[in-house]
Amino acid sequence: MDKVYDVAILGGGPAGLTAAIYASRARLSTLLVEKNYPGGQVMMCDKIENYPGYVASSSGYELCTSMKDQAEKFGTEIKLTEIVKLSLDGPEKILHAADGEEIRAKTVILSLGAHPRRLGVPGEAEFIGRGVSYCAVCDAAFFKGKKLVVVGGGDTAVEDSSFLTRYASSVTIVHRRDKFRAQRIIQERALDNPLIDVTWNSVVKEIGGADSVEHVVLQNVLTKEEKQVPIDGVFVLIGLDPNTKMLDNQITLDEMGYIVTDENMQTNVPGVFAAGDVRHKLLRQIVTACADGAIAATAAEKYIESADWAAAHHKKA
Ligand code: NAP
Repeated sequence: MDKVYDVAILGGGPAGLTAAIYASRARLSTLLVEKNYPGGQVMMCDKIENYPGYVASSSGYELCTSMKDQAEKFGTEIKLTEIVKLSLDGPEKILHAADGEEIRAKTVILSLGAHPRRLGVPGEAEFIGRGVSYCAVCDAAFFKGKKLVVVGGGDTAVEDSSFLTRYASSVTIVHRRDKFRAQRIIQERALDNPLIDVTWNSVVKEIGGADSVEHVVLQNVLTKEEKQVPIDGVFVLIGLDPNTKMLDNQITLDEMGYIVTDENMQTNVPGVFAAGDVRHKLLRQIVTACADGAIAATAAEKYIESADWAAAHHKKA
């Protein structure tokens, strides 16, 4: 008979890795499934300086690699495979992998994270990898001495604009309003940087060029005036959308597609928990992802210990 894990964790960002540390340290048989290398969006962070205890900043890669090592040290198994379907209603939850394998578990923690949002303007899809990027840390080095546009006004756009000036000759932040939503300290650094300027109340209407990006068309949202600006690259850093498509209506989502949980990370399906950026919440940070993961693992442990799982299993038998 196939092994039934106590906990199957879907997604290996900080939420999933922390859940894995807590679950395996509680001596639960724990499997973490991830499509790529564990780490998630945080792997794209060049510098982490608001994770408590990190006075000297560290990279996302360093932090996630040590979380992964810590989970494995306590016995977490890590499997790199793509899950395409979930069967969550029975006492045994089944994760269906793209290669046909079925993974069985008493509880599931959904730490699926989120993916970069797209602008949806002409030229964007066409120039991905040829001047259009969604990840400053991944692609900044390709733009040495180049003129860049960064779209967005949140922490990612404003913080990454500062990072991009290590390579670019100039960075223009294009923001649709007249105020950033980024944290004040991040804004101050960007606004003090002589290589960064801001075009307020404006949106990118079009990205154009021949073989690679050569210009953007900007529109002022107040005056409706449009202008073509010569540019070498566009970083689209306008937020994230949750990776919840595969849940196939089994889990209750909010109007933006984020998973709704109670304070113990419990979803509407008994034995299924959610943690991290994929969850409906106020603050999406590494520290809150880790906290969610720790709570989800503890709630999963309590669920297995309680009569709930045994009763459900008994009914099935
Ligand atoms: P975000 O906070 O959702 O900000 C998205 C930005 O893009 C907003 O300024 C928004 O404008 C703009 N935007 C959204 N859709 C747009 C569109 N279609 N066209 C033009 N502009 C658009 O996303 P984020 O900056 O990626 O941050 C995601 C989460 O990670 C946040 O919780 C953030 O705090 C966290 N984060 C933290 C750090 C840090 O602590 N150092 C670093 C990076 C990210 P409006 O302002 O007008 O809505």
